[in-house]
Amino acid sequence: ELASLMDVSATEVISACFSLGVMVTMNQRLEADTLTLVADEFGYKIEFADADLESEATEEVVDSEEDLLPRAPIVTVMGHVDHGKTSLLDYVRKTNVIAGESGGITQHIGAYNVKLEGGQRITFLDTPGHEAFTAMRARGAQVTDIVIIVVAADDDVMPQTKEAIAHAQAAGVPMIIAINKVDKPNANPDNIRQQLSGMNILVEEWGGSVQSQEISAKFGNNVDLLLEKVLLQAEMLELKANPNKTANGVVIEASLDKGRGYVSTILVQGGTLKVGDYLLAGKNHGKVKAMLDERGRQLKEAGPSIPVTVLGLDGAPTAGDKFKVYEDEREAKSIANKREQLQREQTIRTKKHLTLDELGRRIALGDFKELNIILKGDVDGSVEALSDQLQRLSTEEISINIIHKGVGQITESDVLLAAASDAIMIGFNVRAGANAKELADREEIEIRTYSVIYAAIDEVKEAMEGMLSPEI
Ligand code: GDP
Repeated sequence: ELASLMDVSATEVISACFSLGVMVTMNQRLEADTLTLVADEFGYKIEFADADLESEATEEVVDSEEDLLPRAPIVTVMGHVDHGKTSLLDYVRKTNVIAGESGGITQHIGAYNVKLEGGQRITFLDTPGHEAFTAMRARGAQVTDIVIIVVAADDDVMPQTKEAIAHAQAAGVPMIIAINKVDKPNANPDNIRQQLSGMNILVEEWGGSVQSQEISAKFGNNVDLLLEKVLLQAEMLELKANPNKTANGVVIEASLDKGRGYVSTILVQGGTLKVGDYLLAGKNHGKVKAMLDERGRQLKEAGPSIPVTVLGLDGAPTAGDKFKVYEDEREAKSIANKREQLQREQTIRTKKHLTLDELGRRIALGDFKELNIILKGDVDGSVEALSDQLQRLSTEEISINIIHKGVGQITESDVLLAAASDAIMIGFNVRAGANAKELADREEIEIRTYSVIYAAIDEVKEAMEGMLSPEI
């Protein structure tokens, strides 16, 4: 991109970098200082259009301890298809688990907040599955506090269950296992506990530390107990936020509504959002004209962990975009414009994802402690063998984590996980599907495929030793 802006060849830019002592590859993002120096070599001066954005991002005020008050946990439900995620979300949404609230939740707004018998609240993200969860993480938004993994007791721990677990673990979010469909005659919850233990996930009943609850989502049996466990977990997490400041948070979803204009569901993470506030969300901005909850009721304000639909933005921001209230409308507008302009002019990544080539360099810089790897292969045996041997490459300085492994081709979900966890993707006798490949290109995730175990081991080893020759 720099080369084309200066109308020189990429090789010239790379050799200019080399002559400055900076070893780079074609797709690497240059540091601001290097950019300035390199441009100078070619007689250009660089102006950073996003300087304000950077300062805006870092100006985040840290709340002092006494301003922090408890907030509701934010929960995502994940699991294999047909294991009962939607049924669970629907049951919680519609039933009287929610005491003292009249009228069920009618609208789907992407998230909802329920009040339990004891007055405590829980916020559910209403998009089951790990794609949305990890897509948001890949955009830098960590929204979920607790993940409920739904596993059907009349089935096995399935590939998507494993994936969901890997995604939750990679995000460092605690899980609660909901063993569902226990009403079915062929339900075998012990089988599920057994299979989980085989993955090193030991539930409490079996002496482990992971909470689990047998439920029947369809009939609502023991869902209340599951929610109690969510609250218990939340207590341990000591979730807090400062409600007494201007609001910030994350966009959950947004769309264009025929009658109402742009409608965005946002989740307040800090502060309190009020009608009339001026909002900047991603590239969009506007005055909050109205706020609605999931029951379609008008709200005047919304505090931490509360999801609301807001009307009044000038467009539809992307899920995972951060939002913030601005006192100064002009400032919000100008930042929105700059973001828009930036996106149009260039697609410079905010974050450079890890490649094997870059690994040696980062290790040499000494800021690198863990190498995350996602491993997919054609048969279980080779996946296990490769995973074993890769793990054995761990040294005192660098530990190798296989954050997800499985049999089958590389999927979009794998690529998203790699993007969110800065992991290396390795395929053994498998390739990426077309969609996964496209996503990997877009996210600049490198996928390395091998058909000989030793070739894979050698390359990772060489990369760790910083000896892999860069692919220019
Ligand atoms: P999702 O794909 O994970 O969202 O699964 P759904 O919630 O759509 O459920 C898949 C199917 O399983 C539906 O036909 C549900 O009615 C059924 N189901 C879900 N939970 C239970 C349960 O607790 N017991 C029984 N018997 N069926 C259930």
